[in-house]
Amino acid sequence: MKSVTVIGASLAGLHAARALRAQGYDGRLTVVGAEPHRPYDRPPLSKEFLTAPAGADGAEDPSAANRLDLTDAEEVAELDADWLLGTGATALDPRHRTLSLTTGRTLTTDGIVLATGAAPRRLPGPAPAGSHVLRTLDDARALRADLSRGGQAQVVVIGGGFIGAEVAASCAALGHHVTVVEAAPLPLVPQLGHAMAELCARLHGDHGVALRTGTGVRGLRSAGADDRVTAVELVDGRLLPADVVVTGIGVRPTTAWLEGSGLPLDDGVRCDAGCVTPISTIVAAGDVAHVAGARAEHWTSATEQAATAVHNLLAGRTVRTHRALPYFWSDQYGVRIQFAGHRAPGDVPRIVEGTPDDRSFLARYERDGRTTAVLALNRARPFLRLRRELARAAEPARTG
Ligand code: FAD
Ligand code: NAP
Repeated sequence: MKSVTVIGASLAGLHAARALRAQGYDGRLTVVGAEPHRPYDRPPLSKEFLTAPAGADGAEDPSAANRLDLTDAEEVAELDADWLLGTGATALDPRHRTLSLTTGRTLTTDGIVLATGAAPRRLPGPAPAGSHVLRTLDDARALRADLSRGGQAQVVVIGGGFIGAEVAASCAALGHHVTVVEAAPLPLVPQLGHAMAELCARLHGDHGVALRTGTGVRGLRSAGADDRVTAVELVDGRLLPADVVVTGIGVRPTTAWLEGSGLPLDDGVRCDAGCVTPISTIVAAGDVAHVAGARAEHWTSATEQAATAVHNLLAGRTVRTHRALPYFWSDQYGVRIQFAGHRAPGDVPRIVEGTPDDRSFLARYERDGRTTAVLALNRARPFLRLRRELARAAEPARTG
């Protein structure tokens, strides 16, 4: 393989580039990224980036964005890649091994790593000023600016999942009045199961954030010459006054540009357990990859899948499978929530350390006397021990 192109210059893309060089690939490496920025870390965008104090003149402290950088000048030099930033890939033709770019250029390449991530779902209808989604650094900057307009704002967060809970916590920490609207009867049930999701949902109330569950949103109301949002209208007709609205209702994998490529696209790019598509010179990793029947939307899987995908790309076939233990963390209201494992409906959670009342505990999910997953609130050390135990039982299979 003489040339490899990575599409998507974010977490999975960077880890793919690193893995290529670390695994001895010394050919031409091109990284194509739609955003103008070099790879940066998204988790802080809903957390410390929003709450970081402004500089003396009220403007964003430049070090806040610098702290997000995932690379430095030394690494950029070592990777020896051609970075095409602010450039989107618009089409892929596997037969001719070509990629079309927004600049009008066409790239020919031997190997391809698809790492185009996911983009936020949006509410139907127009998005007035003051309404936000949060995925990119530019999204976070726009939200930060709106939250710093002065005084206590009425913030309505639509969706009580990860983005919703973390943004609500950040807005509450900034002193704003926050309401979270969640369509499901309780947020985070698919991830944590009912009992543990209920304990996590209590964090909102602890910090004066109202959680309205089991209700959808009909639309946003706006007014004024600048068409700013004024309220969120719920399906039952109630109006929640709002100066700022943040919508966190999930994401869709970024695959529209691959329509017509012949690759199987169904909730992401369909890959085998080694992150390899039906075309062995094309692999996928991160939020865009649907690996052996599942798509993960978490930081750790993006990094782990990238290494597996590259290994198989260089081998020319699937010789390694991605079987790492699912893991995520979420920081909400000063509490670190950590989860690892394969929880299935019916698994019974058992608190083995701490108490829910202290918002600090460790729980094992059990099935037939076996631990299937582990959840911790502010119990990092014992969590790590149990996570390692579970991971050992799920060591990656190597077949070559
Ligand atoms: P992305 O990070 O989405 O990157 C994809 C990149 O590809 C983007 O830069 C995009 O512009 C680019 N791209 C898209 N289409 C094209 C194209 N056609 N051509 C070129 N480039 C393209 N996970 C956790 O486990 N813990 C957390 O605490 C956590 N916090 C988060 C907080 C926020 C605010 C967000 C948004 C996510 C958070 N996540 C967290 C999830 C984690 O950040 C993602 O799982 C991770 O970013 C996925 O990486 P990725 O590289 O696959 O995709
Ligand atoms: P998410 O975790 O999928 O949560 C979306 C939530 O919004 C779900 O609870 C969903 O309920 C609800 N919802 C959907 N439509 C709604 C509507 N019309 N009105 C009200 N609620 C609605 O997605 P997210 O919070 O938007 O996060 C986006 C991505 O960033 C995800 O990939 C996530 O994993 C990632 N992220 C991860 C972390 C972390 O791991 N700590 C932090 C931030 C972001 P239903 O389930 O009933 O549809």
